[in-house]
Amino acid sequence: MISEFAKKIIVAESDQCVSCGLCLPHCPTYRLLKSEADSPRGRIALMNGVANGRIPLNEKFVQHMNRCLTCRACEAVCPNHVSYGELIDQAKSLIVDSKSGGASKENSVTRRWLNRLSLLHPLHLERLRIIFRLLQHTGLLKWLSKFDRVKKNIFFKSIAQLPSIKFPYAIAADKRFLPVRNHWQEVYPAEGRERGHVGLFLGCVARIVDVVTLNSSIFVLNRLGYTVHIPSQQTCCGALSQHKGELQQAAIFARQNKSAFEKLKVNTIISTASGCGVQLLESNVGNENCQVIDINRFLAGKIEWENVKIASLPEKILVHDPCSLRNALGGHAYAYQLISLIPDAQAIPLAGNDQCCGAAGTYFIEQSEIANNLRESKISAVMGNRSQYLVTSNIGCALFLADGLLEGGINIEVVHPVTLLARQMGLQL
Ligand code: SF4
Ligand code: SF4
Repeated sequence: MISEFAKKIIVAESDQCVSCGLCLPHCPTYRLLKSEADSPRGRIALMNGVANGRIPLNEKFVQHMNRCLTCRACEAVCPNHVSYGELIDQAKSLIVDSKSGGASKENSVTRRWLNRLSLLHPLHLERLRIIFRLLQHTGLLKWLSKFDRVKKNIFFKSIAQLPSIKFPYAIAADKRFLPVRNHWQEVYPAEGRERGHVGLFLGCVARIVDVVTLNSSIFVLNRLGYTVHIPSQQTCCGALSQHKGELQQAAIFARQNKSAFEKLKVNTIISTASGCGVQLLESNVGNENCQVIDINRFLAGKIEWENVKIASLPEKILVHDPCSLRNALGGHAYAYQLISLIPDAQAIPLAGNDQCCGAAGTYFIEQSEIANNLRESKISAVMGNRSQYLVTSNIGCALFLADGLLEGGINIEVVHPVTLLARQMGLQL
């Protein structure tokens, strides 16, 4: 039943493709593999063939679909506005529904692990952070990496790649504690004259490993007069499920988030990771009365910055544009605007920003060869323009890039633009 529905969508959408090939030079896998079947046009033709029953859904088909990063660079340049993102998600759902499943053993382990993670109750996610932190700080992780079997284990590799996890508090210059130890408050009141109320989306991975960005967002929003609400019933955005073709699970997440935020009666839901932001937006978690908006865009918008003190930072700041921000949300310019608020800071686009870094959800684990190849270009771009900071607005990209830079012995801090701004406004992290 689901397959029939997916096939109809694929046929209708893929028929919009006129095979002009304008998207090909923008596709990272086509540039790398030089194969039509690994290009957007080729993949669309394959999807059309499978949906129409002309070609079988076999291992080869699965391989070409799985090699797609879902970066949507093709969609952003398509003159016929073919919704490639929708097509690839539906094609993956056909794969999930088919008997072959198309997943290698390693993929299945990763997927199972991440699925379990995203399905965990938010409170358990908070506890997970403590366990990961203990693994990192007691040296147990380092000790375990001596064993070959453990080292190759996908679960271990995922944890080993996490950045150093800090306890989720930060002390502002005025000694105010942001969120208390292991849970988030439901409300963080505005400072001074109140300008409005916003909801904040935490995310499942970010609430464990990117507390710094979440703290920074609360800090900046409060300082600007916004009361921040964090509904405890919010859950994973569903992007990982969506891009694996598990569309029903993604819809369940969307419904839960919708209901969690609807109770707040706010007209803005802020997301800090652009990957989550796209998913929240496209799964209609917001509505005509409540907009989902990326933190960069919100802060660069109609905000009164005149009376806000921001310390100078006379540094070059390299800016990485995540695909989700650039190709799907279309808001990569806002990160630059945010940095321009910091006196003397100079925002410089990272060379090759139109190409994916390779992180792409769990792609960096499942298609590590292609992912590492793509990351190499980013590392070279960083090397070609040395600076102290690399900013990016998506946690997945931040983790993958930071890991590559660390491996290469390159000392540069990878942060979210809002973190840099919060620091210059007095947040001590
Ligand atoms: S640019 Fe659009 S219409 Fe042209 S080949 Fe690519 S997807 Fe098809
Ligand atoms: S989403 Fe990215 S990797 Fe996939 S076909 Fe489009 S440009 Fe290529």
